[in-house]
Amino acid sequence: MKKKSQHSQPAKILDSSCEWKTVIGLEVHAQLLTKSKLFSSESSRFVEAENEHIHPVSIGLPGTLPVLNNKALEYSVQVGLALNCRINQKSVFARKNYFYPDLPKGYQISQYEKPVCEDGYVEFEYDGMRKKVRIQRVHMEEDAGRFHHKGHCSLVNFNRAGVPLVEIVSRPDINSPAEAAEMVRSIRKILKYLKVCDGNLEEGSLRCDCNVSVQKVSDSRPGTRTELKNLNSFKFIEKAIEYEVKRQIHVLEEGDKVVQETRLYDSAKNKTFPLRSKEEASDYRYFPDPDLRPVILSKQWIEEQRKKIPELFLPKSDRFRKQYGLSLKESFLITEEKSRADYFEKMVSVKASPKLSANWLINEVLARLNENKVQNIDDCPVSPENLGEMLQMIERKEISGKMGKRVFAKMWETKKNPKEIVEQEGLKRIDDAETLSKMVDEVIKKFPRQMEDYRNGKEKIFGFFVGEIMKSCKGQADPQQLNRILKEKLKT
Ligand code: ADP
Ligand code: MG
Repeated sequence: MKKKSQHSQPAKILDSSCEWKTVIGLEVHAQLLTKSKLFSSESSRFVEAENEHIHPVSIGLPGTLPVLNNKALEYSVQVGLALNCRINQKSVFARKNYFYPDLPKGYQISQYEKPVCEDGYVEFEYDGMRKKVRIQRVHMEEDAGRFHHKGHCSLVNFNRAGVPLVEIVSRPDINSPAEAAEMVRSIRKILKYLKVCDGNLEEGSLRCDCNVSVQKVSDSRPGTRTELKNLNSFKFIEKAIEYEVKRQIHVLEEGDKVVQETRLYDSAKNKTFPLRSKEEASDYRYFPDPDLRPVILSKQWIEEQRKKIPELFLPKSDRFRKQYGLSLKESFLITEEKSRADYFEKMVSVKASPKLSANWLINEVLARLNENKVQNIDDCPVSPENLGEMLQMIERKEISGKMGKRVFAKMWETKKNPKEIVEQEGLKRIDDAETLSKMVDEVIKKFPRQMEDYRNGKEKIFGFFVGEIMKSCKGQADPQQLNRILKEKLKT
């Protein structure tokens, strides 16, 4: 009976769900972008070929000893600093013992009692408000190998064994599925700003376990939680938690108890299934790894790492609104990636107007990068300096906005600077009265009947004349000047 209610589709609980509070805590694993593994010199880069990067240390052959990768330590401390953590001057590696074929050593080297970073927080904007989620700890650990199940046999690939990870553990401060997804997005942005992780959820360089419980709003005791493992997209994070919350409410309303366990999300069925009962810490028989000395960090070294932390997305977006007058939406879009924000500030540094720069960056540059599947704005063929210069030409009315789009397309193709393109293509705005008058005279001469119609009160024909002139000069005429001159000439 109990089993059935754990598995069955939840009944409609919408009416009573307002009595329930959702509580979520996250464990995010991020693969660090070091060249070598956490405790050995073997490459930690992804390769297609199986068991290409396999090392006696990572698979724990007798007689081998681990040596800590300094870069991984630096990156971990930078993550802790960016998440406002206290950096422990002494931290300890521990063995987490469990038996599984992708872990031939029989233990994973992790940190347990003394992690490298503790007690921080992440802040992000959610639903028009600032949300703060506390970070319990950030610790270093090595990754395990990877299983490939083929038909009746299972094969193990050890390329990933020993790759450095940081695990970021949040406090259960999150209260909705969408908020959880936003929290992961924020962590991902921070890791990418720091350039310590590529943030690729689909490929598994960023993995997220979500701990979910529900409790009656009136109840101060926390509910029993389940852990949803390895959710590899923002959509699945939301969907899986949504399902799990409904399921738990249903179980409790049926008078049953939620079982503390690890569950997997099946995206095809949009359901979660039990994987295994939750291990207690004591199941892992943690103890300090006798092969590794405690990590001792000097205050000075920690301060050196602090200097490497760039301005992160939230303070940057705040500054962009204040300094450049951007809207909330613009500021978030532009600071989404550090390279994007840098591109914007380079445009502004060549004196292009911030508003116009933001506009063109969002509507032209990002759109075109997207169309051409260019991931990184650093690979944009139009340099920010060239684009900024072109925007200035628009502001000085040397070219029209419409012309600007043509110049932009040409810059994309040729990487040339806008001045050169405008000259070569003859795109300069025509605004001297003499030239414009001549153009107007010509078109009036060409269409005498339409002119008569206009003078007899068919004012709509005005647009026809403008169109004809623009066609003949490829849109180069200054529209305001042209309108003025055309109006005068048609009158007389
Ligand atoms: P464990 O050591 O068993 O993994 P922790 O106390 O370290 O347990 O917590 C692991 C994760 O579970 C953390 O992300 C934490 O925020 C989350 N968590 C703790 N209590 C709850 C709860 N009542 N509901 C949801 N998540 C919780
Ligand atoms: Mg845990």
